[in-house]
Amino acid sequence: MSKKKLATVWLGGCSGCHMSLLDIDERILDVAALADIVKSPIVDGKEFPEVDIALVEGSVTSDEHLQEIKLIRKRAKTLIAFGDCAVMTNVTGMRNYFPLKEVFDASYKYAVSNDQYGQVPSHEALLKLNDKVVPLQEVVEVDFVLPGCPPSADTIFYVLFEFLNDRIPNLSEAKKLKYG
Ligand code: SF4
Repeated sequence: MSKKKLATVWLGGCSGCHMSLLDIDERILDVAALADIVKSPIVDGKEFPEVDIALVEGSVTSDEHLQEIKLIRKRAKTLIAFGDCAVMTNVTGMRNYFPLKEVFDASYKYAVSNDQYGQVPSHEALLKLNDKVVPLQEVVEVDFVLPGCPPSADTIFYVLFEFLNDRIPNLSEAKKLKYG
């Protein structure tokens, strides 16, 4: 079996799902035996390449994220919604209950920055945020859902290992397995 190409992506999330991925510890060697990690926050590389599996953390919070996830969808054979923010917006989507301006005002109310006390900075990343956060499946087709905030390292490894061996993971089985 030839090695697969694996990507991990960080959209609107806290990076906790990627931290949990790193917690697979030495099992990364089992992953590396079956796949090359060709794009990831922990791997350099600008363009998103064609991949077999894309593990996508976080929800869609901006047009930039929307373009990114559409490109990923085109180039990934299997797209996995990785963690609760990707699956249902979770923490990232809590701002959906309020108008974006109110969220900015509340977030920067107590920010002390010399004479800019309480001012919302006009940073381009903030200006690009969409009014509402949406989960991945609202804008692209998702092949597999990996829930959890974050998913446990054991479950992440199980899901990856199954896909890398051309099997469809069964999350109820993952709960019974103990690794390490
Ligand atoms: S699911 Fe939880 S750990 Fe993962 S990005 Fe969202 S808040 Fe962070």
